[in-house]
Amino acid sequence: MNLPHWQSLGAALLDVLAPEICAACGERRGRTAWAAGVAGPAPGLRSWHATHLCARCRDAWRQEPCAGACAHLPVWGACRESAILVTVIGAWKYRGARGLARPLAEILVPVLHAAAAAAGPAALVPLPLHAGRRRQRGFDQTLQLVSLAGRAAAMPVCADILVRRRATRQQASQDVTGPGRERNVAGAFAARPPRPGESPRLALVDDLLTTGATLLAAAAALASAGWQVAWGAALGLAARLLLDSGEALSVACGHGLAPAGSTATAPPADGRRQEVT
Ligand SMILES: [Zn+2]
Repeated sequence: MNLPHWQSLGAALLDVLAPEICAACGERRGRTAWAAGVAGPAPGLRSWHATHLCARCRDAWRQEPCAGACAHLPVWGACRESAILVTVIGAWKYRGARGLARPLAEILVPVLHAAAAAAGPAALVPLPLHAGRRRQRGFDQTLQLVSLAGRAAAMPVCADILVRRRATRQQASQDVTGPGRERNVAGAFAARPPRPGESPRLALVDDLLTTGATLLAAAAALASAGWQVAWGAALGLAARLLLDSGEALSVACGHGLAPAGSTATAPPADGRRQEVT
């Protein structure tokens, strides 16, 4: 039996019965160029998981990374958080479009390079899910994203340093302007100390940074275990976190620190990035 022939026939049949749709613009695969994403293994991700993103939407998010800060921590993102990015990440995390990890990792690679060029090399630490939520969801999306992007960016990934010891309510359900997000994640993380010979410089990576409360809670746990958190990275940064790259460099160098909870980092009125529409 010619297996590849049957596999391609099966793929063609599946495409007719359940066509793959771009999670951002709704275009159907076959009608436009498609994003292949970063290849290779990642925990819980299989080669047959469809990527669900067209090349046009991927390219719109893979331009010049934007810079920002969560309190004293410089952060870089692929783009400003938008309703479409939130929808795509929701399809990836909650609606079974697991293969989106591959094109999203492709989008994250230039962000990691920009952050390392500005704030120095560091090992990547994915923001972990609580074990209970990972079992419920069946996979850890940030671990997948960082495993793929770290390998493509030639940066080490350390997934055994940080744990989420307490299940927290989803941050998306918390008011972004109130103190609920800080309370929700306070003390939620724990970290092991550095081992002899291990570089203490780390970078925290999440999918979206809205207030940065989760990132800062994780950074505090790492710092108290003896690590240096040098920077953070995500696919999307909320407008309130954006800075120009000079200001972000200044934060990265330890100057011009934004006070905790400061909202004096408003974005330019015209927006810095073109969002996918
Ligand atoms: Zn698209």
